[in-house]
Amino acid sequence: LVQLRGVRKHFGSLEVLQGISMDVHAGQVTVLLGPSGSGKSTLLRCINHLETIDGGRITVDGEVVGYREHGGRMHEMHPREVAKQRRSIGMVFQRFNLFPHKTALENIVEAPMVVSRRSRADAVAEAHALLRRVGLDAWADHYPSQLSGGQQQRIAIARALAMKPKLMLFDEPTSALDPELVGEVLDVMQELAEEGMTMIVVTHEIGFAREVADQVVFMDGGVVVESGAPEAVIDDPQQERTRGFLQSVL
Ligand code: ATP
Ligand code: MG
Repeated sequence: LVQLRGVRKHFGSLEVLQGISMDVHAGQVTVLLGPSGSGKSTLLRCINHLETIDGGRITVDGEVVGYREHGGRMHEMHPREVAKQRRSIGMVFQRFNLFPHKTALENIVEAPMVVSRRSRADAVAEAHALLRRVGLDAWADHYPSQLSGGQQQRIAIARALAMKPKLMLFDEPTSALDPELVGEVLDVMQELAEEGMTMIVVTHEIGFAREVADQVVFMDGGVVVESGAPEAVIDDPQQERTRGFLQSVL
């Protein structure tokens, strides 16, 4: 479903991504591991074209992300086309990005109604189904400030799912949570994975990676150092840098 080939990105003189290649198959979960500054967030942001890229190419479902070929050269897409592509990709960030002045339910129905022009009745029915899925239907009329961090993050997941994405990107979705709230968010993510959602997850939760990931990719300094099944990368890493990193987080 997702293909990256030689993806490069620099900020000024800093080469943050130095030729990243990977494949994510439909229905599979990829966990991205790596030390701070290794380029994980930048990579996710390139996949839904929140960042432009300087080389290589990214395709999602066979479509090049963010660029059109014209006269043998790649040109940046019109923002309207980018927005359309981005609709099929859900993203959940470290810090809760809910609208603070809207209830849980209103957060979820916003995009389907405004962007996809669904009727309110339709969007509300769908939102209740999503709220049940993340175990929060009783909290539909609460505002983000009245919810715990874990509940807010589950609402953020429901909100992303409301657009019926074919791919979900998670950037450290539990790292801002109190430890006792991490499990409820990981449980929702695991259920989503079991239902067949294609997911790319940046996380330091090694237990989640071991149990849920089909593929683990370890990045350092803008390159993929090692990738493979969790049993291989986590339990039997071949590279010194991977071993050092795992020792630091386990
Ligand atoms: P962390 O684990 O801390 O979240 P990361 O692996 O997600 O790290 P990135 O956020 O992708 O790393 O950042 C990679 C490098 O790119 C860092 O050195 C960072 O300072 C730099 N960087 C990221 N975004 C920008 C930007 N918009 N402008 C300049 N430099 C940036
Ligand atoms: Mg990051």
